[in-house]
Amino acid sequence: MDKIGFIGLGNMGKPLAERLLKKYKLFVYDLNEQNLNYFTSKGATSCSNPSELAMHTSRIFLCLPTSKIVEEVVNGKNGLMKSAMKGTYIIDMTTGEPEITRKISKYLKSKEISFVDAPVSGGPKGANQGNIAIMVGGTESQFAKIKPIMDDISSNIFYAGKIGSGHSIKAGNNLLNLICRMASFEVISLLVKDGVDPKKAVEIIQKSSGRNYATEITLPDNILSGKMVQGFSTGLMKKDAGVATKIADSNQVEIPLGKLSQELLKKTIDEFGEDADMSNVALTYEKLTGAKIRP
Ligand code: NAD
Repeated sequence: MDKIGFIGLGNMGKPLAERLLKKYKLFVYDLNEQNLNYFTSKGATSCSNPSELAMHTSRIFLCLPTSKIVEEVVNGKNGLMKSAMKGTYIIDMTTGEPEITRKISKYLKSKEISFVDAPVSGGPKGANQGNIAIMVGGTESQFAKIKPIMDDISSNIFYAGKIGSGHSIKAGNNLLNLICRMASFEVISLLVKDGVDPKKAVEIIQKSSGRNYATEITLPDNILSGKMVQGFSTGLMKKDAGVATKIADSNQVEIPLGKLSQELLKKTIDEFGEDADMSNVALTYEKLTGAKIRP
């Protein structure tokens, strides 16, 4: 049985790592003991730090909150680099910053270690179903080398381009998701105010030209059902939209819709905090418009 390492077993990392657990001997590390215990109870081996994990395997996946934390896990005290073997592949599934990713990759290349970006889109649900989108940045030969393992996670693996391209596309995707989500809540609130049933409105728009991820998944599954738990925090969305803004600033591109959607997100964060689920944005809209869109 081949050995794989996985660091970062939270909302997103857990279902990704679980898919690998079906086929590989898994070595895991996380700061959260509860998340580690979940995996050891399923047969994975827990490591006491990243350096220990890198002694066991040369294929290591990361799914951490930010690129800053990735840097720490790779290069910090007891980091992966303390014991990573030459030829090791570090596959970063974090939604990260392309600039930091390029810097880490360049440094690791000088140590004969490959660092590629492979962020995901489709949430825990997509990972569980085995069809989450994975966008890989690196050389084509690096992509070819890791693709067979990726195939065990999902049927939707894409080569995105040179190192950092996966992270750039992912940041753009999430800014688009935020803009569409805000626009959809705005329109559904307006229709509720006009006396329309929100479920009916979403059902019809989903088959019309205004359809998007919020009308397909977010509204029916998480808001109109009353579940109000998507498994993605407001703080992580703020970070992702912030990465897209950094990319825009460094390329001197204006993003007025992107900025407005982030101002609206800030209202939710001011009220509910950065650990709150993204579903809470609906509550901000209810307050803003006086239209009740939840059941
Ligand atoms: P999360 O907060 O649920 O999980 C993060 C995990 O990383 C936690 O278990 C935490 O203990 C661990 N961690 C933090 N610092 C660590 C360190 N120094 N060493 C070891 N472990 C550490 O976050 P998440 O929702 O799983 O998101 C992870 C990444 O995936 C983020 O970059 C996020 O933007 C991205 N993402 C999330 C979703 C989603 O729907 N949740 C979807 C796509 C992408």
